[in-house]
Amino acid sequence: MSDENSPILVRSLKSHHIGTKEKLLGIVRSVSTNKIAISTAVFRCKCGHESTKTFATPLETLTNPSVCEEFNGGCGRKSTQGIFELLDEESEYFDYREILLELDHPDDFNSKPNYFLLLLLHDESTIPINSTIEFETMIGTDPRHKKTTIAPFGITSEVILYEDVFGQPFNPDAQNPATRRDMERLVAICVCELFTNADAPVKLISIQNKMEQHRLSSSDLEDVLDKLCAVGTLFRPSMNRDEYMPTG
Ligand SMILES: [Zn+2]
Repeated sequence: MSDENSPILVRSLKSHHIGTKEKLLGIVRSVSTNKIAISTAVFRCKCGHESTKTFATPLETLTNPSVCEEFNGGCGRKSTQGIFELLDEESEYFDYREILLELDHPDDFNSKPNYFLLLLLHDESTIPINSTIEFETMIGTDPRHKKTTIAPFGITSEVILYEDVFGQPFNPDAQNPATRRDMERLVAICVCELFTNADAPVKLISIQNKMEQHRLSSSDLEDVLDKLCAVGTLFRPSMNRDEYMPTG
């Protein structure tokens, strides 16, 4: 579990995060339309006996029961074609959307899979493309991805949409970060991106260059870096104050 106050950037996820519950911060690259998933499927056997199957995620495969369970009052017949009928009106459903969050830098030549798949359940809020969202989830692997290089995956029913002082979704590519928190997020994302690209501690001068377009003064930048080190988002790998790395 990460520090309560500093979510991990989706972009900086590592293998050791798989199987842990984390607070994450990521940039939205696509949002699906609403999808409907079955949570509890009710089947009726030819003998009239009904049985249910529940599904924890919408990505599981809907299959018939393997047998009409005798110990539960069924007839004991094995499942063959036509024995079981799915009862639509007695089954239970829920709504969800699939959100893809940016994982790899666009320059990454090894670019598939290049997303974090988030399933957002029971939520109808507007989530603009390129906005930044925060959420908490167990980090698993996308069960539909059948390679050994996995796509990280999470499920949540609540996301926090970051907005700037004008009520616009926070976009780390926008100029003029309007608030202190936006500035901190922007600098954290910048350092993580530089670190990922170079796989080495990030020089202060590189951060200054990258942040120049955002019109953040050098002293403001150093204040923000101090704050990010204090809360544990970044650290200085040596006594040298001119080098920074993301934590975790
Ligand atoms: Zn039966």
